[in-house]
Amino acid sequence: MDFRFTPEQEALQKEFEGFCKEEATRAPEGWIGGLSAEETDEGWAYHQSVVKKVAAKGWLSLPWPKEYGGHGHGPVEQLIFNEVTAYYRVPALPFHFMTVAAGIMVYGSEEQKKEWLPKIARAEINWAEGLSEPNAGSDLASLNTTAVEDGDDYVINGQKVWTSGAHRSDHIFILARTGTRESRHKGLTFFINEIGPGIEFRPLIFMNRSHFYNETFIEDFRVPKRNIVGKVNQGWYVMMAGRNFARANISFAAAGKRDLEDLIEYCKQTQSGGQVMAKDPLIRQKLAEFSIDFEAALKFAYYLSWLQSKGQDIAAEAAACGYFSSELNLRLANTAMEIMGLYGTIKRESKWAPLYGKFQDLCQWGSGFTIAGGTTEIRKNVIAWIGLKLPRG
Ligand SMILES: Cc1cc2nc3c(=O)[nH]c(=O)nc-3n(C[C@H](O)[C@H](O)[C@H](O)COP(=O)(O)OP(=O)(O)OC[C@H]3O[C@@H](n4cnc5c(N)ncnc54)[C@H](O)[C@@H]3O)c2cc1C
Repeated sequence: MDFRFTPEQEALQKEFEGFCKEEATRAPEGWIGGLSAEETDEGWAYHQSVVKKVAAKGWLSLPWPKEYGGHGHGPVEQLIFNEVTAYYRVPALPFHFMTVAAGIMVYGSEEQKKEWLPKIARAEINWAEGLSEPNAGSDLASLNTTAVEDGDDYVINGQKVWTSGAHRSDHIFILARTGTRESRHKGLTFFINEIGPGIEFRPLIFMNRSHFYNETFIEDFRVPKRNIVGKVNQGWYVMMAGRNFARANISFAAAGKRDLEDLIEYCKQTQSGGQVMAKDPLIRQKLAEFSIDFEAALKFAYYLSWLQSKGQDIAAEAAACGYFSSELNLRLANTAMEIMGLYGTIKRESKWAPLYGKFQDLCQWGSGFTIAGGTTEIRKNVIAWIGLKLPRG
């Protein structure tokens, strides 16, 4: 392995850092990053203002080919951007935009590319992701929402669930069944459209009482045929196209590294049983272990993106990277709660909450991160099947 940043990549990193340090100073009081953007109007306004600036700099389209208005950068540059923004807790990316953009770039018509890509790159659209259903999550190919041809439109009916941030969105992409039920992933079509009559979102309140998820009820929602990306029944592959842009996930590791630094500072400044916490050998050892794990997670992500930039398929390694860092963040949150004791459980609205209640929040959100985009068990399956070539059983 011979991986180090090129001078151009180092310059980009510095540029991103300068931007993020500046933007972080504008964060609302008590901003803890993560999924806070969707939860409050203030957080959402902050998120939107940052995203607009990022778009104006052309950074939403870093890995897009130049012919589509992008910079033509590779996965490493995208990862640098993701690392820096996650570390500084700057909400720089619109939700789900890359899935749609990639689908259109790889499978869309020329008209779709002209119509949608510039609007996406300018951050004019907030997307909701209509994939999961009450009976189709990990096994997404079994989904039941149907789309039936009717004149110039398709008419969609069904139910989606866990639709993140949909109440803040103006557009939605939906994977719907156009083939027979037996056709599984070969009978699905990818639709994009403005949210309108026939779509109803109902809040699904999370265990920490925040509104981030929604149930989505779809009744006779009409989508013009020109808004099908790819061909009818090709939707599975359209959806997968987004995965090929920067496969390695670094956001968990970068955000977790920052959280660890905060916890270390807390332990240096807080007394317990008459002594500074950081003097407790058990606490010191735990913090040291986490610092090794986070460095390993960051290096692992860069190694994968470097392999990807050399054209290697890294499906199993990307699953391992996502598994390791999402579980690591959850472990950190649980350890922080043990260290802080009952103070750790104080909600962030209280002025007594240490570190703005970051870790009690992360304890709850963290379990979600081991599910979103592929659960821990599914990731282990991918490692076993593709990486280790074990039988499926
Ligand atoms: C933070 C977050 C944001 C999300 N945002 C969206 C969104 O915007 N839009 C959207 O459409 N969806 C979204 N989801 C939903 C997400 O994609 C699903 O939760 C995920 O695919 C898992 O599906 P499920 O919840 O139905 O669980 P299931 O698939 O029912 O799994 C239940 C349990 O069984 C295990 N399991 C399932 N199959 C296997 C197997 N073959 N082998 C071993 N174990 C297995 C799983 O690991 C899990 O522990 C989001 C989820 C989270 C947590």
